[in-house]
Amino acid sequence: MAKVNDNYLKLPGSYLFSTIGKKVNAYAAANPDKKIIRLGIGDVTQPLVPAVISALHGAVDEMADAASFRGYAPDLGYDFLRDAIARCDYQARGCEISADEIFISDGAKCDSGNIQEIFSVDNKIAVCDPVYPVYVDTNVMAGRTGTYDPEKETWSDVIYMPCTAENDFAPMLPEKTPDLIYLCFPNNPTGAMITRSRLQEWVDYANKTGAVIIYDAAYEAYISEADKPHSIYECEGARTCAIELHSFSKNAGFTGVRLGYTVVPKELQVGGVALHGLWARRHGTKYNGAPYIVQRAGEAVYSEAGQAQIKEQIAYYKNNATYILEGLKAAGYSVSGGVNAPYIWLKAPEGMTSWEFFDYLLEKANVVGTPGSGFGPSGETYFRLTAFGSYENTVEAIERIRKL
Ligand code: PLP
Repeated sequence: MAKVNDNYLKLPGSYLFSTIGKKVNAYAAANPDKKIIRLGIGDVTQPLVPAVISALHGAVDEMADAASFRGYAPDLGYDFLRDAIARCDYQARGCEISADEIFISDGAKCDSGNIQEIFSVDNKIAVCDPVYPVYVDTNVMAGRTGTYDPEKETWSDVIYMPCTAENDFAPMLPEKTPDLIYLCFPNNPTGAMITRSRLQEWVDYANKTGAVIIYDAAYEAYISEADKPHSIYECEGARTCAIELHSFSKNAGFTGVRLGYTVVPKELQVGGVALHGLWARRHGTKYNGAPYIVQRAGEAVYSEAGQAQIKEQIAYYKNNATYILEGLKAAGYSVSGGVNAPYIWLKAPEGMTSWEFFDYLLEKANVVGTPGSGFGPSGETYFRLTAFGSYENTVEAIERIRKL
């Protein structure tokens, strides 16, 4: 008789954003005359840039001709894209990453969820608190759970590393030693960025303890401050302890197109086994490659025109971030993030929980954000707004909040 994977049954009811979606839809249905502004989910709103559109059209035309038609893509990605990534995202920044250490995928969500598969179920994971929920949920699905605390919404086998105003929203080294460490900078949800020296401390710690860092750099393109690291491989020794994840979603608007990549350096070994080979085996077995058309679109991101156009688009969202940050500060809120990231992290007014503030903003300002507590216990009383809306909606949302 078949049995389900009962780790799935341990997961709390619904994914954060579906709970928000249900609440907002119920409010919208009851108040059809209200214009709701959604600054909750981190999804982009601006169209793909012309260089990408033109590459998509070109690749579609190639598919229409038997001479240039392409079938299955190579499992690990086309060389033209892996070469462009290695050159522009790494070698141009002085990081020693070669094209064959780059694995193309359909996005960082899948990779951040799947990467744990190549590690033992006995491994202890450490995550930032608050955290992008995918890291924890996918480890729960794999059985790295222990017992669940429904009040705090935490698992006993997971090491939660508080990221608070006291530590500039970057975790301190944990007391218990983890085997896998998830770090994400620029951070979702806090919008914080880690300094190079603190990231180096993590790399040194991982090399010393034999832990592996899974470094999610999905928001790297939003880094504004010149002294902040764009990649963990800017730190000495990272090639022997870190895997890095990237996405084309937030730098080039590919949330609906789907493209990402993961870097696994060849020196990275666990118990004498090279993770590069394990991940290649997993990728080749369970994944048939990102579409040719999409990989050509990804290549266009690295063209001269593509780089100039995405820079402009990122500047558009960053301008929204500055508007939110400054507007909320002027309204008396305690706010952070928004400088190296498209997320603004604000403290709910005194005495309100994250969900109470969510309801308050929805009902009084018709603005949707994300309750910080949905990302972990240290997110309680915080609230996340995103800079991915249109400029007009962003301005209107902030005006409404200021008037409250
Ligand atoms: N990693 C982080 C930290 C994210 O916030 C997100 C999306 O919001 C992703 C990964 C997912 O990226 P992708 O669209 O490439 O799957």
